[in-house]
Amino acid sequence: MLILLPATMFHLLLAARSGPARLLALPAYLPGLEELWSPRALLLLFIWLGLQVALYLLPARKVAEGLELKDKSRLRYPINGFQALVLTALLVGLGLSVGLPLGALPGMLLPLAFATTLTSFTFSLLLYAKASVAPASALAPGGNSGNAVYDFFLGRELNPRLGSFDFKYFCELRPGLIGWVLINLALLMQEAELRGSPSLAMWLVNGFQLLYVGDALWYEESVLTTMDIIHDGFGFMLVFGDLGWVPFTYSLQAQFLLYHPQPLGLPMALLICSIKAIGYYIFRGANSQKNTFRKNPSDPSVAGLETIPTATGRQLLVSGWWGMVRHPNYLGDLIMALAWSLPCGLSHLLPYFYVLYFTALLVHREARDEQQCLRKYDRAWQEYCKRVPYRIIPYVY
Ligand code: NDP
Repeated sequence: MLILLPATMFHLLLAARSGPARLLALPAYLPGLEELWSPRALLLLFIWLGLQVALYLLPARKVAEGLELKDKSRLRYPINGFQALVLTALLVGLGLSVGLPLGALPGMLLPLAFATTLTSFTFSLLLYAKASVAPASALAPGGNSGNAVYDFFLGRELNPRLGSFDFKYFCELRPGLIGWVLINLALLMQEAELRGSPSLAMWLVNGFQLLYVGDALWYEESVLTTMDIIHDGFGFMLVFGDLGWVPFTYSLQAQFLLYHPQPLGLPMALLICSIKAIGYYIFRGANSQKNTFRKNPSDPSVAGLETIPTATGRQLLVSGWWGMVRHPNYLGDLIMALAWSLPCGLSHLLPYFYVLYFTALLVHREARDEQQCLRKYDRAWQEYCKRVPYRIIPYVY
């Protein structure tokens, strides 16, 4: 995975700009080091990370507490990700008004991805070393097998911090996610420069993905109860995933559209918007229902739902979204993934990479979550599985 993930990212970057744009073919050429290595790209990356760190350190509208840790303490997290998105947008807008050449960004994606990969390896090594001096209670359950390569990949320390600055929480939703929409915007501007105006397909991809990122940052607090934060150590998997994989592969549809314009009529665009809306409705409905229920089970919006008690004192929802399948939020996410790819037409498989990869990721993630829930809730979880037999897609899976 250490080699496969970066290799796949470079393959996609190269395939998107190649004539045939084939997902399942080797790239026509391999870029030389002079095409990959650029001190300017590294500088740009550090300026970007520095800007996001500065925005993270600004006063937050709220400071949230995470779940209880092994040593019974709780960490505190600033909730100002959406603010960082808005301030970044204002700064970019200001930059554009004084001639910031954002349209040049698509031409720098390859060296930027290379600089991000090198930075991710170096950063993960530092995190690995830092974990050696961390107390045992700060280590993650999964990344401490004694096999150096495995632990480097999975991450040894659960919540590495420098003072109150939390590296994992910072990387999860900010530089990569905001970077993704910035790359999309740059691709849209480049398309406008090349063809006079952005295509409808490019507008849809930009709009859909901006909504996704805006939603993630608006509901930033809910990341505190995800597996990434409460279970996984911070190693190469999350460092590279957050900083490199997300911005450079999730922008694949917009990259593809820049080099392979696709005609899209209004009726088809409306159909795709409806698919996106259905996906978002399920995704947001399911996530909000569970988050509200976990925060306050007597909230009027969830108080009437049927539940199963568990030995831990917590309850499991068995009606509402969580009575339809055991992971309705994954279903909504997958429908949205399809809506992001459809504007790219049906002539190429490449823009559907995200749907394929994301299906594999969520099926694997769902299996991991099932194991953890079975361990946590035992017979109550078995009862839940009996009452709600489908995992992600009703009557199919
Ligand atoms: P979930 O939000 O699905 O959380 C799973 C947890 O929810 C379980 O461990 C359990 O925790 C609780 N739970 C499960 N079933 C029930 C129930 N019936 N009633 C009450 N609580 C229940 O986990 P993820 O972190 O995987 O996903 C969060 C969102 O992020 C999803 O929408 C997912 O699609 C998205 N995502 C997107 C990615 C991307 O790259 N675009 C990557 C990964 C995720 P407990 O009981 O302890 O509360």
